Amino acid sequence: MLHTASSEQIRKGLVTDVYFERTEKILKARGLNKDVRAEFIAKGLPENWPWAVFAGAEECISLLKDLPVNVRIMKEGSIFHPYQPVMELHGKYLDFGRYETTLLGFMCQASGIATMAARCRLAAQERQVISFGARRMHPSIAPLVERNAYIGGCDGVAVGLGARLTGTEPVGTMPHALILIVGDTVSATQAFHEVIEPHVKRVSLIDTFNDEKIEAINVAEAMGKDLYGIRLDTPGSRRGDFLRIMEEVRWELDLRGFNHVKIFLSGGLDEYQILKYNPFADAYGVGTAISSAPVVDFSMDIIEIDGQPIAKRGKLSGSKAVFRCDKCHETHVMPVKKKPPRCKCGGMQKDILRPLISRGKIKTRLPAPNEIRDFVIRQGSDMGLELG
Ligand SMILES: [Zn+2]
Repeated sequence: MLHTASSEQIRKGLVTDVYFERTEKILKARGLNKDVRAEFIAKGLPENWPWAVFAGAEECISLLKDLPVNVRIMKEGSIFHPYQPVMELHGKYLDFGRYETTLLGFMCQASGIATMAARCRLAAQERQVISFGARRMHPSIAPLVERNAYIGGCDGVAVGLGARLTGTEPVGTMPHALILIVGDTVSATQAFHEVIEPHVKRVSLIDTFNDEKIEAINVAEAMGKDLYGIRLDTPGSRRGDFLRIMEEVRWELDLRGFNHVKIFLSGGLDEYQILKYNPFADAYGVGTAISSAPVVDFSMDIIEIDGQPIAKRGKLSGSKAVFRCDKCHETHVMPVKKKPPRCKCGGMQKDILRPLISRGKIKTRLPAPNEIRDFVIRQGSDMGLELG
């Protein structure tokens, strides 16, 4: 038996902290089932990230649509900052209180992964970024990891189930296992070329036996135009001079007329490594940095009970609008009933916390993964996002 909760257990609210179960018991015993508004908000972001990508919305919605609640929520993929609520629930507390643990779990991890993918995308600029990190997490959540890596900005994902979820083709090169078993890099690459469907790009892994430069030249000479790229895995021990190795490989390939051969880099990369290797890399496989990205610490806070604003100390009470200017993207949190002033730039301010579920009915179509990804990338350029 696997040590994971089933979808059914999650939907039943069985993944919940016991103090919510006790709260439920007490409120039922006292006959207290109040009309409550609660918001989901992050007071800060991990590692001094200046912004984050809101993800996990689809799973939250999939759970909430079966409950008698109203939901206002940011579009999945929205760029948000601390203190901007990303979701607001309104209903009887006993109808949703026990789901606090689960809903937070959906959005905290997904937003962390999507944000890290967006940061790698930003660092890599026009170069490809592929999600290679499924192996670093429990396999039961691999599709989730891949999906959030993709919507954050990865161009492709390695695991087939993740690719299916994102509506993409899985992307991969070749493992050391293939080369070791076939016996040498050139034969393994030729075998790949003969056996694998022609639309799959031929990317040869060139660090198994010999010096990267020699292997790269050998495989380029054997494959010619059929070789799309070579992959270098950056072992920690060689990281110091890795840029020189890449420069050398590029030089030797170009000198022999193999300018078309792309350099694909993988192994322990993060957004800062990407910036460093950009001069010589054409594509990146990013694993751990994305799949085990730091989580965004959202919390769920009650902001209104029976129509009256109320909150614990340190929290702003009352229902809020998150007004974002459609031109300059300046964002202000305001009480929901206030009309937004026209932005200083002349643009219109719109509430990006939009009603999506009304008493269990979804009002708008949910975007497909590629639409969410496009939205993230568009905001990145519109808002001039930086790594910070
Ligand atoms: Zn503006």
